[in-house]
Amino acid sequence: MICKNDLIEVAVTDLNNLGSGVGHLEDGFTVFIPGAVTGDRVSARAIKVTKTYAVAKLESILSPSPYRAGSDCPASLSCGGCVYRHVNYEYEKECKRNYVALAFRKVGLQDVRVGELRSVGVLAGYRNKAQYPVGVDREGRLFAGFFAANTHRVIPAADCRLTPPLFGEICRAVLALCDAASVSAYDEKTGKGLLRHLYLRQNTAGEVMLCLVLNGEKLPREKELTSAICRQFPQIVSLYVNVNRQNTNVILGEDYRLLAGLPYLEDVLCGLRFRISPQSFYQVNHAACELLYGIAKEKADLHGGERLIDLYCGIGTIGLSMIDRAKSLVGVEIVPEAVECAKENAARNGIANATFLCADLSENEPMLARVAKETGETFEHSVVILDPPRKGTTRALIEEIAQNKVPKVVYISCNPDTLARDCAIFRENGYEVGEVTPVDLFPRTGHVETVVLMTKK
Ligand code: SAH
Repeated sequence: MICKNDLIEVAVTDLNNLGSGVGHLEDGFTVFIPGAVTGDRVSARAIKVTKTYAVAKLESILSPSPYRAGSDCPASLSCGGCVYRHVNYEYEKECKRNYVALAFRKVGLQDVRVGELRSVGVLAGYRNKAQYPVGVDREGRLFAGFFAANTHRVIPAADCRLTPPLFGEICRAVLALCDAASVSAYDEKTGKGLLRHLYLRQNTAGEVMLCLVLNGEKLPREKELTSAICRQFPQIVSLYVNVNRQNTNVILGEDYRLLAGLPYLEDVLCGLRFRISPQSFYQVNHAACELLYGIAKEKADLHGGERLIDLYCGIGTIGLSMIDRAKSLVGVEIVPEAVECAKENAARNGIANATFLCADLSENEPMLARVAKETGETFEHSVVILDPPRKGTTRALIEEIAQNKVPKVVYISCNPDTLARDCAIFRENGYEVGEVTPVDLFPRTGHVETVVLMTKK
């Protein structure tokens, strides 16, 4: 039996989506070793032992795995965001596909085929959005960084490998200006201090939206600060303050106030122009998102007569990118500002046959009944697109889709476990589950996106 602080030697046989190598002791007992890789033989010290598993700290690699690749980020271990930073990309792709297949096996859907992970192959600088917590150093200077894995300690590092280099430059310069204006950093422990986060978004044209998240209403010397930021970075086309006075780890508060520029950022995606307000969801990896939507469109296999029902539609991107091949579109989304963007996006792209409703899809209100009532929509020639957040959708909604005999459902998911769970419910309700296509929207991290088509038998 292994005890805490024991030094063990173990062969690593798997790598999970949290970045832990997995090995088994001679008696079969499972050990998780963060930073170890399938194929390594390592020496590690047990730091936590439970009845069913242990966690051990990697002490040394006795013989390295062929899947290893040198990490090109000095912060990767303390950050924990890039769980595949230390393996080659081919192996990362295999791990992600295996993770999706395992999720389906766990819910008894082992017969569902999981295809190759699709990728655009860009591993760095792909994120168009980042949120940096602000800390203060020994000299009292502000810095941007990230929370050390599983803590609330801010580690200085504005130059994440996944974001554009411009984000780091903006963080440093804006914080230097804030220092000069005596802006204080928010401290989670005391609830005091002003500046909590810098929230940045960039479009494909290189324009930026910057939002300073405050534990308060206003910045000191706000006018001067605003013009100094805009002067130094003409790329910033939209500058906001967000007010978050809650003692919480939710980053953004509800109130936004525009300091300068436009109230939204605009981006071109799938040939259409989209307005993105700061409250709205927008896929963070532009090129991979176009690949994802393209696969979803292929799976939907539209012929022109279909009625699209885009549930969890955000600013309308998926439905609008498919409408050239459909008859009409209804989108449903909970964030009112995103619904407003979706309506404007349809209008500005000259799309008249699209309607958007603001509603909570997790309420037990029958949503298709409401869609039918408000838009006159019918469902016998419809395609439902589902793109819920990580927790997936609801049984009630799946049952309503089945009762309305919706012939095709394209499900896009950022969480293989809730996707598999929901696919099992679709199957119970008479749907055939097609091949699952994983798409790499988040290279180097443990996250994987998936698309699957379900058809009514
Ligand atoms: N399809 C969009 C957005 C996907 S993200 C795109 O590709 O960009 C999931 C969306 O679901 C977010 O916009 C979120 O605001 C919305 N959402 C989350 N919970 C919801 C609920 N209960 N009802 C309706 N929409 C919800």
